[in-house]
Amino acid sequence: MGEPNFGDVHGPRQRECMLLLRCQLCRRPVARNELGYPWLLEDHRGAPGWPEREVTTHPPACETCQPLAAVQCTPNRGKFVSLRVGRVLTDGVYGQLYVPAARSVPNGKPQTFFHGDARLRWMLGAQTAATLFDVTVVDMHTQTPVPREAVRR
Ligand SMILES: [Zn+2]
Repeated sequence: MGEPNFGDVHGPRQRECMLLLRCQLCRRPVARNELGYPWLLEDHRGAPGWPEREVTTHPPACETCQPLAAVQCTPNRGKFVSLRVGRVLTDGVYGQLYVPAARSVPNGKPQTFFHGDARLRWMLGAQTAATLFDVTVVDMHTQTPVPREAVRR
């Protein structure tokens, strides 16, 4: 009973959906249109440059699942925005860094490091992170671009 624990991410499934561009909800491959792949992220339209080059551990979300996810997923319920992503670079690992030592202990909070970072050998990876490029904010229901004036707040 109660609500599903949406915040508790299943590592292998997260990785599969991110690398193979499958919907994180229904697991079907997401379809690309002329603007790119469908994505659902927490709305940060106040931040400079957002959502271009956003780094996320959230895999894509298909058009069918987006409205349901936007309503049901806690704790970000009602704070999502629909995106189309032209290019996806899965070059990051989110996880827990450890102090290099014989009996290693956690070093700070979980964070994301990128391909080539020497610290990755001391990280216990939990999720694959992607950098999103050529991102367009779209209407969740029509999947058409949102006018610029609607993007600014
Ligand atoms: Zn789906």
